[in-house]
Amino acid sequence: MAQSSPAAGMREQDAWNALDAGQAQVAEQAFRDAIALDPKNARLHMGLGTAAFVLRHDADAKASLERALVLAPDLTRARAQLAQVFKRQNDLTEAIRLYEIVATEVPADTGVRDTLDRWKREAELHDRMRLTVGDFFTVSFEGAEDADMAAQALESLNRAYWRICDVFSAFPPKSVPVVLYSGEQFRDITRSPQWAAAAFDGTIRVPMRGAGEKGEDLDRVLAHEFTHALIRSLATRNLPTWLNEGLASVLERDGLDWAEARVAKASSVPSLTVLSNSFGKMSGAEAQVAYAASALAAKRLLDEAGGIAIANLLRDLGDGVDFEAAFLHRIQKSFADFQASVQQR
Ligand SMILES: [Zn+2]
Repeated sequence: MAQSSPAAGMREQDAWNALDAGQAQVAEQAFRDAIALDPKNARLHMGLGTAAFVLRHDADAKASLERALVLAPDLTRARAQLAQVFKRQNDLTEAIRLYEIVATEVPADTGVRDTLDRWKREAELHDRMRLTVGDFFTVSFEGAEDADMAAQALESLNRAYWRICDVFSAFPPKSVPVVLYSGEQFRDITRSPQWAAAAFDGTIRVPMRGAGEKGEDLDRVLAHEFTHALIRSLATRNLPTWLNEGLASVLERDGLDWAEARVAKASSVPSLTVLSNSFGKMSGAEAQVAYAASALAAKRLLDEAGGIAIANLLRDLGDGVDFEAAFLHRIQKSFADFQASVQQR
């Protein structure tokens, strides 16, 4: 691709650097500036589409990536990124069609091959699945023998819906998709660490073998994942992990004796600042302490500030307001003071 403008080249470099640094909004603007100078450069449209994907602006991402592929049909990275947009929108057929092409373009890339195989297994599973539709959820499940389980899950989700929406005075804007998997299928498709009971990535995915054996566990797992769904409807970004997992853990059930006991037994408890990062790389024992400490902090926040203030904090974070500024405004206390009071316990 010819570089028609040195200024466009400089803005492009700024844009990729911003994207690498996790500043997708800055990157988006820089790509737009570069496109204004060099509108037929496919790589710039690919960059803009990638930034939009990171920001979860799927319609914009799709438009930019499709434009990139019109300008340069052999731009494999744009096609791979476009496939990810379709995948996130649950259009597995189109995602797989595009990724098949990507796999022929980069035959040596085993990562591409693995992803394609995983998506195909997920598609095969979905083909076998049945659907039950409630007022607030659509529940997919595998066989006729799971129909009772799906009905039970839907009842449990409806109870969680009213209880948890009431806490925040907030409701998800649309029906929440739920997929019930067997344990094996679940790990295969989401690549969740072994210790995770369920997962939320826009769809609530619940491993039913095991979780379904005791009704109380099912209620707990579904309440936890529904809380994530509700939180995601308020803030799609900038969310500290302790707040997300802490709220989901508190709203699982009434008591926090398990969390008190776990923290009391721990040799050290990480600060909330540390717990703002992902728990994904933690060992099982570390994760237990992280969830317990997060739950206790979230409980304190709920008791002190209430669910409506927390919902407003989440909305601010989703709107891109700085965490400490949003916390001070909505909780009426600095985050440093809150963190200190949590650690004193
Ligand atoms: Zn969680």
